[in-house]
Amino acid sequence: MNRSLPLLPGATIGVLGGGQLGRMMAMEARRMGYRICVLDRDTRCPTGQFADDVVVGTLDDLESARCVAERSAVVTLDTEHVPAEVLTAISEVAPVRPGPRVLATIQDRAVQKQFLDRLGLPQAAWSTFADDAELAAALTRIGAPAIIKARRAGYDGKGQARVEHAADAPAAWHRIGSQPATVEALVRFAREISVVLARGVDGAIAIYPIAENVHRHHVLHTTRAPAPMAPAQRAAAERIATTIAAALDHVGVMAVEMFELPDGTLLVNEIAPRTHNSGHYTYGACATSQFEQHVRAVCGLPLGDPRQLTAAVMINLIGDLWADGDPRWQHVLARPHARLHLYGKLSPARARKMGHVLLLDDDPDRALASVDELLAALQS
Ligand code: AMP
Repeated sequence: MNRSLPLLPGATIGVLGGGQLGRMMAMEARRMGYRICVLDRDTRCPTGQFADDVVVGTLDDLESARCVAERSAVVTLDTEHVPAEVLTAISEVAPVRPGPRVLATIQDRAVQKQFLDRLGLPQAAWSTFADDAELAAALTRIGAPAIIKARRAGYDGKGQARVEHAADAPAAWHRIGSQPATVEALVRFAREISVVLARGVDGAIAIYPIAENVHRHHVLHTTRAPAPMAPAQRAAAERIATTIAAALDHVGVMAVEMFELPDGTLLVNEIAPRTHNSGHYTYGACATSQFEQHVRAVCGLPLGDPRQLTAAVMINLIGDLWADGDPRWQHVLARPHARLHLYGKLSPARARKMGHVLLLDDDPDRALASVDELLAALQS
């Protein structure tokens, strides 16, 4: 197989994990003439519905991942929860972008936080611990309230427990299974932002306009882009994100989530070495979507133009909206500036990300003000 760069249309991109990020990447890749081979447990997964080829297996199944690598010119990821050892093993068969070292640094929260400390980047006071005594000592230093987070496999608030008083900490840790974890100070932020960027094989970086994010119950609820921001503050956030991407030698799209304190201080919350929910606005509002950008980066192509063409607000649609049956889509589709994305998931479980709506509006305040009414209409 020809794996020399740049990989041109006709080449097969392997994707480990068949969720919505892989799906939107597959839609963009296939538009551009690439082929997609995805690894997932279910052929009917969101990415599988747009793939040329599905290998059925779990993300920790080395033989299945190797099978994807053999059929692909490059392998990339829909999720960071693919064991780094699997990536190391299959990188002998096909290039893996981002590489195993990126994943090994990101997958374990403690290793990720140590990496950020080594770079001298600001984050909430934190500590890792392995037993009740270490947890108590960590809380004495950090103070309460605090948040305990599982070191591995957590996302969207899963594997997280809030501690109001130090005395409650053992019970909170027990609630997440007493697994290896970190504890960090609860941040009284003024707002949350994220920097979504892409880094090419040659180290070139393209940065999207910064997103302002609102979470509900630890799950992203809305994104507004561009975030209203003074130029110096924007530059500070971009510097943090580009420092991380370069230090990781990352290839592909990456998001860095940050807390902004009332005095403007930025703290890194977490790094996602992949396309990101807060970058969904780029698919519809920017000259190059984050998904095309990721394809370009991993294929060794020049990066596309990240310019935003219109302000946008993204609203996540989570499974709870399906509590009384299918949402009444006519209320989204009747709005000329709204774009509906549904991820083709077969069962709408609570808190599961099922789709999103993008509101293209030069006045994002107006768009944000309409969110509650739109969500209510969907359930009316
Ligand atoms: P995470 O999965 O760590 O990104 O957490 C999901 C969301 O939980 C964040 O986007 C915040 O809204 C909230 N959160 C996580 N960590 C903290 C913290 N240390 N202080 C305050 N809120 C937090």
